[in-house]
Amino acid sequence: MSRPPGYSGIMRPDRLNPLFVESESLKGVGPGLARPLEKLGLTRVRDLAYHLPERFVERRVVDNLDEATVGEQIVVALTPRDHRSSAGRGPYRVLAEDALGNVCALTYFGRASYTAKKLLPLGEKRWVAGRLDQYGQMLQIVHPDHVSEEGLLGQLCEPVYPLSEGLTQGKVAALVQQALGLVPELPEWIEPGLLDRMQWPAWREALLLAHQGQHEAARDRLAYDELLANSLALMLVRADNRARRGTPLTGDGTLRDKLALPFPLTGAQRRAIGEIAGDMAQPSPMLRLLQGDVGSGKTVVALEAMLIAVEAGAQAALLAPTEILARQHHETLSRMAAGTGVEIALLTGRDKGKARESILMGLLDGSIDMVVGTHAIFQDAVSYRNLALVVIDEQHRFGVGQRLMLTRKGRVTPHCLAMTATPIPRTLTLAQYGEMEVSQLDEMPPGRQAIDTRVVAVERMGDVVGALARHIEGGGQAYWVCPMVRESESDDLAAAEARFAELRERFGDAVALVHGQLKPEVKDAAMERFVRGEARLLVATTVIEVGVDVPNSTLMVIEQAERFGLAQLHQLRGRVGRGSEKSVCLLLRGEALSETARQRLALMRETQDGFRLAEEDLKLRGGGELLGTRQSGDTPFRVASLDQITRLLPLAHDDARLLIERDGGLTGERGEAARLLLYLFERDWGVQLLRGG
Ligand code: ADP
Ligand code: MG
Repeated sequence: MSRPPGYSGIMRPDRLNPLFVESESLKGVGPGLARPLEKLGLTRVRDLAYHLPERFVERRVVDNLDEATVGEQIVVALTPRDHRSSAGRGPYRVLAEDALGNVCALTYFGRASYTAKKLLPLGEKRWVAGRLDQYGQMLQIVHPDHVSEEGLLGQLCEPVYPLSEGLTQGKVAALVQQALGLVPELPEWIEPGLLDRMQWPAWREALLLAHQGQHEAARDRLAYDELLANSLALMLVRADNRARRGTPLTGDGTLRDKLALPFPLTGAQRRAIGEIAGDMAQPSPMLRLLQGDVGSGKTVVALEAMLIAVEAGAQAALLAPTEILARQHHETLSRMAAGTGVEIALLTGRDKGKARESILMGLLDGSIDMVVGTHAIFQDAVSYRNLALVVIDEQHRFGVGQRLMLTRKGRVTPHCLAMTATPIPRTLTLAQYGEMEVSQLDEMPPGRQAIDTRVVAVERMGDVVGALARHIEGGGQAYWVCPMVRESESDDLAAAEARFAELRERFGDAVALVHGQLKPEVKDAAMERFVRGEARLLVATTVIEVGVDVPNSTLMVIEQAERFGLAQLHQLRGRVGRGSEKSVCLLLRGEALSETARQRLALMRETQDGFRLAEEDLKLRGGGELLGTRQSGDTPFRVASLDQITRLLPLAHDDARLLIERDGGLTGERGEAARLLLYLFERDWGVQLLRGG
């Protein structure tokens, strides 16, 4: 959950404080656990309490092994009769008897063997919990989950938690229990009629139950809370926006007439521009999302909107998520708008000294009409004479809270156009962008050829490099993408650098490298060499995912393609197929592929429709799966599963709307409770709006 600065929950109600205590202050959390916990996003008591089990182990107590079946999770009393260690790395076996004299081996590997000796002394009865297996003719339990002198009735149903390296089930369970002990009772925010009808438990009880066993009602309630918080926050944004003063802008068309575009606009582009112009002419600020697949031509739509603002005597700003993209947008806009005489500046965090001063002056005195940049364009030091339109590219990189901050600077609220190329399934649009109107570019510019996508086994690397060489000798350019799960993952980085070195051996200076760890200047220089065509091959990590446009580059190789999500592969592939040439995308795959990975790659070959891929991606990841690991295209939820979103979101949406209609200031009893809910799910920017922030 992103927490933009300035919306950090400083005003959080006291009664929620126990939930926001750092996990590090809990008993048994040494420095060694801090990292693994952070990796799972479990930095506070609240996160631990919401770290719901992915499933439960249900065990049955049996009097003897005759009553159990192989594969079953059981609790049984056994008496050790013999200890057998095997030579070398073989397992350590404890042969034990049940009440009837049936023999079962308790098998331990590696270091666990040492504890086995102590846990299972010869001739003394022990209760053992674990999964009954068969090894040849012998019954066995490998690494019993529990061994105890007393019964194990308390362990008949045990949660299984998602883990990360360095954590064990026992450790996580203990921390979760500590966290649950700190969870306070909170007033009810769900409408009483609904709570009754669904037979949902109260919030605290639901949390406790969800960790104890398979309680669907409890899980649903917790998911509903999250959905309700989201809907409420988005509706508060919408209501706040309606109440704000904006500047109605109507352009006279003079600048737009001077645009000399090398192509006619598509019908979808014209329609979107019409909708945007309609919004901008209103006195309340626009809040519109422009959704269009990679390559659908969002940039020119943004330019038209920005020109409307300038025609009306105001300024417009375009925010990009990365330097590379800001630079490229600046070039594209400058080229397209060359004939209009409009002054377009570029401002990034790297601009310093005189150059920066002069841009700041220009923005202040109005001699600059448009500015393109990274978030630097919204720093406090930057003041505008008359900023009336903010365009945010690749919206999914920014949270709603961040967007609010950007557009709430002046007395007058600028119109806001958010753009995204992340196709999300229709069912999720409401959840993700419920506060905005949506325009869709559902039509690709004409003349695009389908990208020839092939899955190639990594053993054929030699052939791939050969094809690459022919492509480059023939005057083409190409991308070579290496996986990088996080920009800080050192193994991945090393692999990317090694591949770069290898390819440079073959292709010399025609190869350039970009990745997230490079200094921005170095990255930009490499990027520019590629854009200008001096570099023919760009080796890159996913930093090129967003927005880079080099039409001459018509070949893309993606290494270890199975490690990417569908949405990400789709975004990457969108970098080719931008010109009129036929483009090729080679998905290199490793040896051992999971079934899901295989299906994902097959889908990539089959379709180029981003929405279809998004739908299938979610399906492949399974309806019951928690969407804890986030990637672009995911839902904004951590508790609610896809299935729950589908079932419960419409309810939450209606409920939120009713509540806001009745108590827009959230001052009534339920309103106050709902404020707690917003803080709990860190949608507190919703509450900040109520303060007129
Ligand atoms: P995205 O929606 O991914 O931001 P871009 O705005 O970068 O897409 O456009 C992709 C490419 O398509 C650019 O090279 C752009 O010049 C071109 N393009 C945009 N609109 C049209 C059109 N109507 N006809 C032909 N080409 C177009
Ligand atoms: Mg774009």
